[in-house]
Amino acid sequence: MLLDDFRSAAASLRTDGPGQIAAASSLDAWTEVRNALVGRTSGRLSDLMTALGTLPKEDRREAGQLANAVKQELEALLDARHTELSRGQQQGPAIDGTMPARATWQGSVHPVSLVIDEVVEIFRELGFTIALGPEAEHAWYNFGALNFPADHPAMDLHDTLYLNDDLVLRTHTSPVQVRTLQQYAPPIRILAPGNVYRRDFFDPSHAPMFSQIEGLVVDEGITFADLKATLTRFANRFFGETKTRFRPSYFPFTEPSAEMDVLCGVCKGSGCPVCKQSGWVEILGSGMVHPTVLENAGIDSEKYTGWAFGLGPARTAISRHAIPDIRILYDSDVRFLEQFAR
Ligand SMILES: [Zn+2]
Repeated sequence: MLLDDFRSAAASLRTDGPGQIAAASSLDAWTEVRNALVGRTSGRLSDLMTALGTLPKEDRREAGQLANAVKQELEALLDARHTELSRGQQQGPAIDGTMPARATWQGSVHPVSLVIDEVVEIFRELGFTIALGPEAEHAWYNFGALNFPADHPAMDLHDTLYLNDDLVLRTHTSPVQVRTLQQYAPPIRILAPGNVYRRDFFDPSHAPMFSQIEGLVVDEGITFADLKATLTRFANRFFGETKTRFRPSYFPFTEPSAEMDVLCGVCKGSGCPVCKQSGWVEILGSGMVHPTVLENAGIDSEKYTGWAFGLGPARTAISRHAIPDIRILYDSDVRFLEQFAR
C-alpha cells in the first residue's frame, strides 16, 4: 500500500465512524459498531494497522500518527455514546407527572391491644410487673387451687373447654396468681394479661376466646383499703376524672369480693342505653385473696394478705368506643381498624 491510499482509507473511516456511532440505538448495536470500527482482531482500524506494515519505512511514522489520531477520536465518540445509552436504560419508562399518587395506608394498634397497653402502663407506674402463664392449663391451677368447690358450675363441660382429663384451655387468667405465688415470695405486685377461653356462643356480646388482665398484690398488712385506693386511682387515670363504686359480688378465690363500676362515660350518670339507664358501667371484678388460695400456693395466710382484680379489655374497649357488637373486634376488618390509627 502507498501512503496516499492509507491516508484516504483513514479519512473515510474518520468520516463514516461518527455517523455509525451516533446511529447505534441500543447497547447491543453499540457493541456491533465498536467491533466493526475499532475491534482488536477485525474491524476497519485493525485493517489499517495491518496495512501500516506494508508501507515504505519512511512513511510509517506519519501513517502511525494518523491511525492513532483516528483511533482516539473514534474511541472518545464510542465512550460518550455508551454513557448516553446506559443512562437511557436506567431511566426506564418516562414518568407521567399527571398520574394520581398512590394512597398511603396508616396501620393501627388493635383497640383491645390499646386498652391492654394503657392498663399495663398505669399499673407499671404503681410498681406492678408483668407475669405470664400457659393457656393450656392444669385443671388444678384453673379451678382447684383457686378454691372452686368440686361441684362448681364453671367446671362443667358446658362452660369449659377440656383438652383431656387434666388439661383445660384456661377460663380466666387467675391461674397466673397461683403460679406466681408458688414461684416468688411476697411482696408481690403483678399484672397478668392474656387470652382465656369459654364455651360461649359467638354472639354480639360473647366470644369463645377473649383477653383478660389479672392483677395481684400480696404483702404484709394489705387491706381492702389498698384495693379500693389502687383501683380508684387506676379508674381516674384510665377514664379521666370519674367516680367509682364497689358492689358486693362473689368469686370462689376472693373474700370479700366486689365489682367496680365507673360513672357512664356517655351520660355522665344521668342514664342512657349504653349503661341501661343505671348511670354506671361495670369495669372489673376484685376482692381480697381467699386465705385458702394463699395456703394452696404455699403462702402463710396468717402473715400475708392480698387483693386481686380481673378486667376484660374487649369489654372496656367496647364501652369506651361504644362498639355495638363484640365480633367486630375479631373480624380484622381494615375499615374498622384504621379508625384507631393515630
Ligand atoms: Zn349512660
